[in-house]
Amino acid sequence: MPRNPRYDILFEPVSIGPVTAPNRFYQTPHATGMGNMKPNSSAALRAIKAEGGWGVVCTEYCSIHPTADETPYAYLTLWDDDDTEQLALTSAAIHEYGSLAGIELWHGGFHCNNRGTREVALAPSAVSAEFVYPAQVREMDLEDIRTFRRWHRDAAVRAMQAGFDIVYVYAGHDYLPFQFLSPLTNRRSDKYGGSIENRARLLRELIEDTREAVGDRCAVAVRLAIDELHGDSGFSSAGDGRRTIELLGEMPDMWDIALGGSLGNDSCSSRFSAEGYQEKYAAIVKSHTSKPVVNVGRFTSPDTMVGQIKRGVQDFIGAARPSIADPFLPSKIDQGLEDQIRECIGCNICRSANNEGAPLRCTQNPTMGEEWRRNWHPEFIPPAVSRDNILVVGAGPAGLEAALALGRRGYPVTLAEAGSELGGRLLFEAGLPGLQNWIRVRDYRSYMISQMDNVEVYLNSELDADAVAEFDADQVLIATGSRWRRDGLGHNQRRPVEIAAGAGILTPDDVFSGTEIPAEILIYDDDHYFMAGALAERLLLAGHRVRYVTPAESISSWSVMTNEHEFIQRRLLSLGIETTFAQKLVSIEHDRLTTRCIYSGKESEQVFSCLLLVTSREPNDQLYHQLLPGRARRIGDCLVPSSIADAIYSGHRFAREYGEDPRQLTPRRERALLQSSGMQPGRIE
Ligand code: ADP
Ligand code: SF4
Repeated sequence: MPRNPRYDILFEPVSIGPVTAPNRFYQTPHATGMGNMKPNSSAALRAIKAEGGWGVVCTEYCSIHPTADETPYAYLTLWDDDDTEQLALTSAAIHEYGSLAGIELWHGGFHCNNRGTREVALAPSAVSAEFVYPAQVREMDLEDIRTFRRWHRDAAVRAMQAGFDIVYVYAGHDYLPFQFLSPLTNRRSDKYGGSIENRARLLRELIEDTREAVGDRCAVAVRLAIDELHGDSGFSSAGDGRRTIELLGEMPDMWDIALGGSLGNDSCSSRFSAEGYQEKYAAIVKSHTSKPVVNVGRFTSPDTMVGQIKRGVQDFIGAARPSIADPFLPSKIDQGLEDQIRECIGCNICRSANNEGAPLRCTQNPTMGEEWRRNWHPEFIPPAVSRDNILVVGAGPAGLEAALALGRRGYPVTLAEAGSELGGRLLFEAGLPGLQNWIRVRDYRSYMISQMDNVEVYLNSELDADAVAEFDADQVLIATGSRWRRDGLGHNQRRPVEIAAGAGILTPDDVFSGTEIPAEILIYDDDHYFMAGALAERLLLAGHRVRYVTPAESISSWSVMTNEHEFIQRRLLSLGIETTFAQKLVSIEHDRLTTRCIYSGKESEQVFSCLLLVTSREPNDQLYHQLLPGRARRIGDCLVPSSIADAIYSGHRFAREYGEDPRQLTPRRERALLQSSGMQPGRIE
């Protein structure tokens, strides 16, 4: 299909100093959880972005020196020439598709725990280390600053030698150059402290040093946190941020504008932000510099993207998450296939991978992170190896993904769903406050399936074992999901608790099926992800009094992994939720919940008329067990209840592997190089 001329502007080349981006699609630096330990995986991941049409593809954060170490999190390194060679793999992979390769040079200052390198951590002023207590960070003296500039310059030279086109000076996300900029973290009284002119001195010098290091071979980009969202007391876009751009606006070849304070501000989830949520910040910078500006905003709509350019907000379409959810987003727009974009849902499961120190995963894109390891490509899937017809029972995320991927392979597929709509758990979960974008998981798949003539969909079709047998399918796939437990079993409760008969107990399934909720409700959360907090929010907004009890220390405690934790606390506390933390379930009488403090063991009671248990789920696997052994396979929550991302992955993996030789399916592993030469037993190198 030809490209819609309305989108031509997105495909214009843009000069960035000495280099030219082939279009305006700019994959900004983002973490992958792979770092220097997984160079092949990193290179393959970035290559897919370039192949998908991103005109600029950047790496993740790349440490310039062993004093910048975030063990156990994965990061790149440019400490020596071995690193240069390793990173050349990534730049070459990006260049293969005609895109520019960018690299984000990084020093985290007081963010660095240096547990791996055991170097002393450095920062503009002596403070406690951000993540490691009771460690502290040493204040850099003038000699340290000179040395730091040398490390940065050396890393810039190596970046150029590794073949990168854009070299970043990284003054975002509370890292070292930003720590100099912010009045909250810079208490110096020398020429690097005090006025904004002084606090911006290091950034100015780093831009000059980097320019000198790369000459006219590479562009110099600055990633700046234009506002750390601490109001007037911090580095704000109305004050220091604006002044910094006035001072340095013309010095780099481009500006990559971000938010500081916490990573949750910059990669804010859709629950707490809309598409283009950083626009006002980018616009301030754009109005103070003639250099190109890029900024993220979870852009997935081509019309919104055109608006960004035409209204002069930015020169590129910056994206991390939308490029993860659909690496082929630019190429789909280019080919007039924008209706096939797999839109990011803003769930931040990708952030959780990084926060867990694990390789990148994505709810919408099951191939993300598997490009090298399993040789999975987001847009291509091997053709069917037989004429087998496949029955998929259940059209939640797992069943939909399996049906779609099997259909793309060319298998004849029947998808049977008991309900009157496709979507399974998404139908309810996307109705919770702020989660409406989650329905995109269903919408993308149901639309793609509707374009296929080898996938038949039957709604209102609850199948039992006889009905399954009647289909006479070569393969039956059970994707019937899960239900919330009523017995208290959860993360802190390994055996069911005693529950008195007739107690007013509800589970999330009851709430979703429309059970009337009384004016007061007590929620017990031993699940710790979004569900209990989001239900509490819905009930508070509807005027209920909500008490919340949990063995954890905060509301929805696992959401710290999705960078939503602080937003959830702020919202629910402001709505008036009443919380009791560190309490573990003991028993449930008909109107009384008994809990025990997880530290002191002291028991206490809460009286309720309605208790909502959000603890864990059990598979809906009765149908599977009714079928003859070996007749069917289970996927998604029916196999093991987990996240939507895991359900999608499960369905996709089944489809990829169906009929394939199991010996060919073992994923590849990155292995550490054995450095045998020169090492003598018993000798300390
Ligand atoms: P998952 O996350 O694993 O995809 P969901 O709970 O979201 O699981 O979806 C399961 C789907 O299976 C629901 O839409 C449900 O209506 C459907 N389902 C459950 N049992 C049957 C059945 N016997 N026949 C057809 N569909 C079923
Ligand atoms: Fe978007 Fe969620 Fe995928 Fe991250 S995990 S890219 S937020 S869909």
